Amino acid sequence: MNSFEQHNPTKLIFGKGTLSNLSKEVAQYGKKILLVYGGGSIKRTGIYENVLNELKKINAEVHELAGVEPNPRLSTVEKGIAICKENDIDFLLAVGGGSVIDATKAIAVGAKFDGNVWDIITKKAVAEDALPLGTVLTLAATGSEMNSGSVITNWETHEKYGWGTPHVFPKFSILDPTHTFSVPKDQTIYGIVDIMSHTLELYFHHVENTPLKDRFCESLLQTMIETGPKLLEDLESFDHRETVMICGTVALNQTLLLGALGDWATHNIEHSVSAVYDIPHAGGLAIIFPNWMEHVIDENVPRFKQLATRVFGINPEGKTDKEVALAGIDALRTFWSSLGAPKTLADYNIDDEKLDVMVEKAMANGPFGRFKVLESDDVKQILTKSL
Ligand code: NAP
Ligand code: FE
Repeated sequence: MNSFEQHNPTKLIFGKGTLSNLSKEVAQYGKKILLVYGGGSIKRTGIYENVLNELKKINAEVHELAGVEPNPRLSTVEKGIAICKENDIDFLLAVGGGSVIDATKAIAVGAKFDGNVWDIITKKAVAEDALPLGTVLTLAATGSEMNSGSVITNWETHEKYGWGTPHVFPKFSILDPTHTFSVPKDQTIYGIVDIMSHTLELYFHHVENTPLKDRFCESLLQTMIETGPKLLEDLESFDHRETVMICGTVALNQTLLLGALGDWATHNIEHSVSAVYDIPHAGGLAIIFPNWMEHVIDENVPRFKQLATRVFGINPEGKTDKEVALAGIDALRTFWSSLGAPKTLADYNIDDEKLDVMVEKAMANGPFGRFKVLESDDVKQILTKSL
């Protein structure tokens, strides 16, 4: 293992009925609240009204930023920052999926920063402070509810970047699996793929002696493989929603890190695709991840073989190590497509017209990927295979 420090200060409040904790949690941070949400799902499900009732209990002054887009945009973040500065907001409450939470994190740092928040997102400036934020999660996928990361798109320049700072760990996150009953089938599939992708990103590393980390990752993947299809058969199953929700948080809240950061090239490549075409994040991951795996397999065939045998139950008898490893990648691809995830960029009507633009965007900050460092030619090959 590598030496490491780990500190996750987010208070996780998990289970049915836990929204009743909201007023008590928010009260610790002030009265002037900015409620941030998306395109209206929380109004249709009634979560909005229940949140407002909780905030009424503490006589909160509630301001609102509605309409955060999937793949949240800088322009929306800037609107939120302006509301904070004009109204002296004390606390930000994100109610929604990863996009709402990520936008709220950017608003939190922007509200305490004199310059342009894009400089923080592009790492030209460092966030020194942030408004406190809390979340009520309505979609299991990103893990943003219990991490310090965020992904923001500048739609003007077609750039999408992940960034983070410990200042934006949510103070608390309320996770009631019933809040995810209404997530439609396609978004549920994307959630499953994103959760598994985070786990896979963390699984591919070259750090020696990580048996516990490996088993943690493998058990999370197995749990998703077992539960995902059952959930898609019964979208209002409490048990399956609950299982997927806790997997989503654990996949990216540092539990699986254990001193090995993982690769993250696939996420970077996906960001360059959705920066240009605005496709759902995990739709892109489902397409790109198996192609990335085949591209980098020779970096560590035994690790791919371990995934194949332990997670996908591939029988190694009579096969070379590489054949077993490749069969595992195939099993992943088959599993995701059996759920209904897209297989090629053509499924989103994306052809090679802007291939070079996507490569250029992916390479904007130089070569990337820790398991294998990718140069622009690698990215081009992976994207070409994904078409
Ligand atoms: P999302 O973009 O937050 O939401 C997708 C859609 O689901 C929206 O249309 C939303 O509608 C709807 N929705 C959410 N909750 C719902 C509910 N309970 N019932 C019905 N519909 C619901 O999806 P996401 O996958 O959570 O977030 C994706 C973003 O996170 C991408 O930008 C991705 O790059 C980023 N990401 C972040 C991290 C991180 O660690 N921070 C990690 C991976 C990915 P409304 O808008 O109407 O609510
Ligand atoms: Fe992701």
